[in-house]
Amino acid sequence: MSPDLNSEVNATETTNIGSTEITKIQDQDQDPKFSDSTAIVDTLSTDFTFQHKIVWKNVIAYSIFHIFGLVGTYMAFSVYGKLLTSIFALFTGIICGLGLTVGAHRLFTHKAFKATIATRRVLMLMFILNGQNSLWEWIRDHRQHHKYSDTDADPHNASRGFFFSHVGWLLSRKHPLVFKYGKDIDMSDIEADSWIMFQKKHFLLIYVLISILLPCIVPVLLWNERPLLSLLIMYFGRATVNLNATWSINSLAHISGMRPYDKKLFPVQNKFVSFITLGEGWHNYHHAFPWDYRSAEFNTSVRFATTVIDFCAKRGWIYDLKFAKEESVKRRIVRTGDNSHPKYGNPDEFKGTETLWNFWNSPSNPTYRTKDYKPGPITITREGYVLFDNEKKVK
Ligand SMILES: [Zn+2]
Ligand SMILES: [Zn+2]
Repeated sequence: MSPDLNSEVNATETTNIGSTEITKIQDQDQDPKFSDSTAIVDTLSTDFTFQHKIVWKNVIAYSIFHIFGLVGTYMAFSVYGKLLTSIFALFTGIICGLGLTVGAHRLFTHKAFKATIATRRVLMLMFILNGQNSLWEWIRDHRQHHKYSDTDADPHNASRGFFFSHVGWLLSRKHPLVFKYGKDIDMSDIEADSWIMFQKKHFLLIYVLISILLPCIVPVLLWNERPLLSLLIMYFGRATVNLNATWSINSLAHISGMRPYDKKLFPVQNKFVSFITLGEGWHNYHHAFPWDYRSAEFNTSVRFATTVIDFCAKRGWIYDLKFAKEESVKRRIVRTGDNSHPKYGNPDEFKGTETLWNFWNSPSNPTYRTKDYKPGPITITREGYVLFDNEKKVK
């Protein structure tokens, strides 16, 4: 599927990623009696008796990193550092955010648009500046998150609560199903990109040079910032803010908000998350239409990353943008939404789908439920399609 610039994509078309596949299957098979080719081979949900094994060296490493990060963030707002360093940290943070949203997320993971080779390389460098995982690993995790959302095969299964989906998943051993289903994620397009594979192979060296040294050396060389202060503000402080903003998409944007597009999907619409992530918090829409380059409905406020994509598209750096027709979005809202949509919803029917929090239940195995949502199970068919069990009941 590769439409021309600004062409429209019907909501029932499919990509390899995300819940759009579910829509296609559903449209083909109104009475879901599975034929042989779609026979069920596995069922996924969340096993709340499972205790994640805590990895203490990660707990210590992330704790120390966050202590330095808090000190660095404080320095950025204090009189200790130079004003130019603080402004540069903010600028770098936005560049890093765009590398994540426009690059790693919408271009490389979801293939929501195409980009010239030069644009791909620049976006990849902007992503590396963040100092997160290798781009390959980031994409694999996120594709897996969409395919097996909020089950034990999702690396940051939000059914386990705020803490686990925010950072707990990085402090504990992965669930065995994450390993099992992670192997099946199609990464062929990514593995064909020699730059991405080069970064995966030489991750540590590139991390030290681009994620630490490059942003820290600029304030020292250009306006004589003290090296230690530059390290605290430009690396620890800036990275801590960027990391927590990114993690909030996996935690807050799966927990606190409405579900106007699909009430059976766990992710929600969250304006605060959109603000701190340059427009990635419209997460119920994004999980309903993962291939839409806007990651939000047309005319949605707080959409800085989309504005940047539009800017690049006008100059020909980005092309073949995919987005859902309003008619398709409307059909989805009427069919599966929670009635909270301001235009196509029905306030009289809206019963509220805000999640009930249970943050402190158990740090390694927190549980909580929405008022009308029971996580999973997801059904895996022989052809590799993923079906939410409760999706089949949608009329
Ligand atoms: Zn998500
Ligand atoms: Zn996504």
